[in-house]
Amino acid sequence: MNIILGGGISGLLLASLNKEESLILELQHEVGGLFATEEISGTNISIIPPIVSNPNFMEGLKYHEYNPRIISEKSKYLEDKICKECETFPLWLDFTGKKFWIDNFSEIISNLSKGVKIINEYPIIIKDKKIITNKGRSVIFDKIYNTISRKELFKLVGYSDPNLKSVSAFITILITKGEKEWDVYINGDTGIVFSHIIRKNIESDIFVNYIYSFFTSRLPDIKKVFSDLKRTHIFSRDEILAYRSHVIKDAILYGTPSIELDFIKNCGRLGLWKNISLEEAVDLVRKC
Ligand SMILES: Cc1cc2nc3c(=O)[nH]c(=O)nc-3n(C[C@H](O)[C@H](O)[C@H](O)COP(=O)(O)OP(=O)(O)OC[C@H]3O[C@@H](n4cnc5c(N)ncnc54)[C@H](O)[C@@H]3O)c2cc1C
Repeated sequence: MNIILGGGISGLLLASLNKEESLILELQHEVGGLFATEEISGTNISIIPPIVSNPNFMEGLKYHEYNPRIISEKSKYLEDKICKECETFPLWLDFTGKKFWIDNFSEIISNLSKGVKIINEYPIIIKDKKIITNKGRSVIFDKIYNTISRKELFKLVGYSDPNLKSVSAFITILITKGEKEWDVYINGDTGIVFSHIIRKNIESDIFVNYIYSFFTSRLPDIKKVFSDLKRTHIFSRDEILAYRSHVIKDAILYGTPSIELDFIKNCGRLGLWKNISLEEAVDLVRKC
């Protein structure tokens, strides 16, 4: 039996490609990881926007072109505002060039999850080829395919890798009404909590807006997000119809992993500890 840690796109694809028997352990009730969806104001919306540069990396994708009108303020301070120590920034923060928005990624996730065994548990002990979960289940494994934070996993098996660092993201998903003259708004001002807003029309005059506030130590306050939206004249209270927030603990990853263990095969963004895009994640799973 192979254990797959994490039921994001990497874990689900691994399970569907794996010819041997495998079991996914997933922390959340929903599968799909960052592309898991939730219903907001009657529309299914993923935690992050499914924007890609090449829409043909998987079969069955439905998509439309997304060529955002970009407005930037104080962009020369942006990299320092998000991460002073990072040498490179994720490609998913680059909105220039031709992009595509995948419309049916939740269907792809749901289809992938149909044929695989998933339990909503997470590992608390890994020892002698045995995993014990938070619900007391004990599973004997041949190999672990890891798509969760390798930092956390290695801690469980008694190693610490000080090279692995990350920046977290506080993501606010806003449903608003009314047009704007931009689709992506970028702000490098350190006095403003958020740095990026990515927006797309979901029905006639209604829009979904993904607001990214990156942080390393102190979790941003939703009140500060709202007050900065008002201060920058981006949205007034009466344009906002609904909102949700999510914390992504390891959003931007940096530092090079220094420990490898023979019974753990690291895959996915958190296993590889790389800022890979969705297209790269799918491609790399096939090679994992
Ligand atoms: C803020 C942000 C925006 C992004 N935007 C884009 C974009 O626009 N376009 C693009 O191509 N790429 C984007 N990416 C990258 C893209 O999200 C990843 O490449 C892709 O989601 C990788 O999938 P994954 O399955 O490897 O990881 P994840 O989607 O992170 O899945 C990991 C899974 O492991 C689970 N898990 C975590 N800990 C445990 C545990 N202890 N036990 C069990 N399960 C656990 C999680 O719940 C999750 O389901 C973005 C990434 C971030 C952080």
